[in-house]
Amino acid sequence: MRITRMTAIAAAAVLTLGVAACGGDDDSGDAGSTDTGSKTFEAGTTMERLNKAQKIVIGTKFDQPGFGLKGLDGKPAGFDVEIGKIVADELGIPEDKIEYIETPSAVREEKIEKGEADIVVATYTINDKRKERIDFAGPYYVAGQNILVKADDTSITGPDSFKAGDKKVCSVQGSTPAANIEQYLANKGSQLVLFDVYTKCIDALNSGQVNAVTTDNVILLGFIARNEGKFKLAGENFTEEPYGIGLKKGDTAFRTFINDTLEKAYSDGRYEGAWKDTAGKFDDQVPTGPAVNRY
Ligand code: GLU
Repeated sequence: MRITRMTAIAAAAVLTLGVAACGGDDDSGDAGSTDTGSKTFEAGTTMERLNKAQKIVIGTKFDQPGFGLKGLDGKPAGFDVEIGKIVADELGIPEDKIEYIETPSAVREEKIEKGEADIVVATYTINDKRKERIDFAGPYYVAGQNILVKADDTSITGPDSFKAGDKKVCSVQGSTPAANIEQYLANKGSQLVLFDVYTKCIDALNSGQVNAVTTDNVILLGFIARNEGKFKLAGENFTEEPYGIGLKKGDTAFRTFINDTLEKAYSDGRYEGAWKDTAGKFDDQVPTGPAVNRY
């Protein structure tokens, strides 16, 4: 009797799942697929594994206003976080099942390689050097390197202002702006100060330890917005920084899935909505999603 009742409950559960799967909006499944909730994914794929686990670990920044900033509720918020949520949603994973880990610039590849993050969405510039260790979906945004100075500073007007050798600039270890600024420095040893995260550079600028902070314009705009009247950009962007979503090297099916997800979000309004709710609060140039690179 007991066994029969259990069997009936199990059968009902299977039926419910089956019905939910039929009602799903994903058509990538086939025979031998497993499903959870309303999504179905091909067996053996990362999408199926994450969907079945009903959990995803997303690496992001915790101290960058507008892109990834940890709030009082302990959760990060920002454009990158919203992009991560869109990917999770397409995987059939609800928001409260996303685990966020902090991925400062220098540890992003390592966190992906070790499998500690399923994806990294963290103002992460796509480049060939990084592609030797991981893969990128996207780009989903194109930023550019710039320089932040105190609002009353007229002595720094662009990267060439560092050539005289008397100005100190701060950036973050393992970041592309830290590497790129070197060519403008007369004396790297005395002029370049590196920390693990950008808030430490902002502190160093406030205390007078450095004269400027360099990284992507949108990161700097976030700090300008949060410190009203205190800082400004010193000039124009002088690089292009296409932001990608980092994932394990060689996982082409997952990369394709994320690229498809981005394209879907570009066209159904979710991308624009994500921007307007976050970085769009201080940067009113609403981006049109850049063409993804299916290399
Ligand atoms: N986009 C640059 C990079 O990926 C700078 C921003 C950052 O450090 O996250 O290195």
